[in-house]
Amino acid sequence: MIAEVIIDLALDRGFDYAIPAVLAGKIGPGSRVKVPFGKGERQGFVLAVKEYAEFKGKLREIISTDANSTRLPANLLHLAEWMSQYYCCAAEHAVRTLLPAAVRSGRIKEKVVGKAVVSDRDAAIEYKNRFASDSRAAVRLRVLQILLDSAVPLPRAEVLEQAGAGPSALKTLAKAGIIELIEEKTVRSPWADTAVVPTLPLPPTPEQSVCLKKIKDMLDGTESRRVMLIRGVTGSGKTEVYLQAIAMALERGENAIVLVPEISLTPQTVRRFRARFGEKVSVLHSRLSDGERFDEWNRIRSGSVQIAVGARSALFAPFEKVGLIVVDEEHEDSYKQSETPRYHARDVAVKRGAMEGAVVLLGSATPSLESYTNSLKDKYVLCELLQRAEAQPLPEIRVVDLTLERRDEEEGKASFFSRPLIDAIYKRLGRGEQTILFLNRRGYARKMECEDCGFTASCPDCAVAYTYHRKHNLLSCRYCGAQLPAPAVCPQCGNEEIRFVGSGTERIESQARAIFPEARIFRMDSDTMRSGKHTHESVLNRFRSGDIDILIGTQMIAKGLHFPGVTLVGVLNADAGLVIPDFRGGERSFQLLTQVAGRAGRGDLPGEVIFQSFDPSHPVIGFAMQHDFKGFAEYELEVRKELEYPPYTRMIAVHFESADEELAVRSAETLWNFLSANASPGVLVSPPEAGFPERLAGKYRYLLLLRGENLARERKMIRDYVLKTPHPQTLHVSADVDVRNPC
Ligand code: ADP
Ligand code: ZN
Repeated sequence: MIAEVIIDLALDRGFDYAIPAVLAGKIGPGSRVKVPFGKGERQGFVLAVKEYAEFKGKLREIISTDANSTRLPANLLHLAEWMSQYYCCAAEHAVRTLLPAAVRSGRIKEKVVGKAVVSDRDAAIEYKNRFASDSRAAVRLRVLQILLDSAVPLPRAEVLEQAGAGPSALKTLAKAGIIELIEEKTVRSPWADTAVVPTLPLPPTPEQSVCLKKIKDMLDGTESRRVMLIRGVTGSGKTEVYLQAIAMALERGENAIVLVPEISLTPQTVRRFRARFGEKVSVLHSRLSDGERFDEWNRIRSGSVQIAVGARSALFAPFEKVGLIVVDEEHEDSYKQSETPRYHARDVAVKRGAMEGAVVLLGSATPSLESYTNSLKDKYVLCELLQRAEAQPLPEIRVVDLTLERRDEEEGKASFFSRPLIDAIYKRLGRGEQTILFLNRRGYARKMECEDCGFTASCPDCAVAYTYHRKHNLLSCRYCGAQLPAPAVCPQCGNEEIRFVGSGTERIESQARAIFPEARIFRMDSDTMRSGKHTHESVLNRFRSGDIDILIGTQMIAKGLHFPGVTLVGVLNADAGLVIPDFRGGERSFQLLTQVAGRAGRGDLPGEVIFQSFDPSHPVIGFAMQHDFKGFAEYELEVRKELEYPPYTRMIAVHFESADEELAVRSAETLWNFLSANASPGVLVSPPEAGFPERLAGKYRYLLLLRGENLARERKMIRDYVLKTPHPQTLHVSADVDVRNPC
């Protein structure tokens, strides 16, 4: 028999090897093998076993194979093959993505603990009586008594410590034939010491019942198994639906995978799953040690757990077959991996679900327009939870028009705080309630913006902000390639300080301290977290216990947190994300504003939300104020259609990186010329643009963007170009299919 092996080098092809007689039957698709390659040896994975080789010369033989425990399930190999084609990456790269480094490296081994157990009780008791009066046997008898008192094998080290004995005591007892020394595999469990109070399913609300009934019908086979989009406002009980759906899958003997964004993989979330399913859950956390990760992988692989919960990569939990996949907060950008292979975990989840016949649940308060459109087209089933499960009303939202506000000045610069916001904060301080102040970190620092009037330089054709290139003092449009010199003063108000603006959390903090000197204020952003003095968790715990009055932060504080003491949420720059060099600006802003607003009034006290804005009549702000997802989607989809953006088109970026700027530019231009000449009619290919940042780790970055209703043909061309065309060593080319951040 012949095995087709892919090798730990991104060569994007399989190599044929003969399976020697001694390994016959031990090797199948997914087996990890060692093979001769060139003059050395390499690790690889078997893609397929076949009878005839493509290669006509003399085949070399596989050297050895690993224990079965690291054998990849065949279903995952098929998924990797699909990823390799779709995301234009080498097959070997895709396969590697499936396996945690700890499993792949082969260096981590199972942890074995030496234990002892009484093997012959009668003989042991007889032995005990025989030596009862022999003082030299006292230590040995103490050891024996401990073992006699236990019904299960005990770790040898612990027994010896407890008896104050040396290893020879155990050896003597074993030689006498009354105890047995055994080696037992144990699992390194990160949660072993944390007790969790079990919970029972809650009686579903009417909306939850409708949703659960549909899921049940799909699991039962009454309805065909499909993707369901659950749009549920924050607090509507989506998580409870997931938990009950998982229980149904488990009842049928099927496995489940739950994906959550890394940032919401908090102890709070983990506890909810552990409380319902106990030892049946494996939690795949980025903070697991290599040993723990290895053990979790094997626990899943061997069938000792039925549920895997984790961020992006939990999607590749090595179950033979899954019955249910949940993707919570499906709209989150963090599901898209930013390095090759640049896969989107939600989309791959849908694919894995289809391949294995699983029900896929996508949940969000603000679904992505891609998924929402699929539900409108009846590609997905739509299920809506519009009432909060505990019946609190959604918070009241007010908008403050910053153009009308004479804001207090500080060092000649406008203050971040409007009068109404200051008043509202004072009220909270007086009543001992808490406030969250949120600054939308302008994802793209490099746009040109006037801090005084809110003007942003933007492309009239593409409805996005221009990108500002400092080096040439130029503005350019990411989507159509238009270029123009940057203005020296603000065209709207004449301010001479127009420039690109970074974040301002520090300035906000100092202004807040000046305005509210008595208040306990804490700023939480990537800077304060990096110092290592505080952790995300410790700050949030302090906030929860009431030690902080005002929490200032960026995106970091927007996600999934539940603080009953918060009655005011202020968004200092509600429109900051609306005009950015990315067509998803409106969508991200709506999601963020909705999410931030959802932080207020989670307890018994009603909440209030204030949006400060230079552009208060912007439709997106209006829809967010009204909690009107449908209205927003209708409005935004019209814009997307008009300007031919996703979900009406597909988008692919090709990245060129090199320390040699000339080389990167020239290569990008060559591919641009080729694609412009060969792409299908209707496909737009924008000229090479500098990336953001333009240089990273000493490499210049350029990219091309393709856009079209159907890019299947172009994707093949790009795949061939990236993987099959010889490139100079100093140039790195990669593809990003279904781009989220075109930079
Ligand atoms: P979401 O995931 O949509 O934000 P959760 O599932 O976290 O919502 O539910 C929000 C709150 O409502 C939680 O405290 C949860 O315990 C509670 N809850 C959910 N479903 C029910 C129910 N059927 N009956 C009573 N309380 C519920
Ligand atoms: Zn443009």
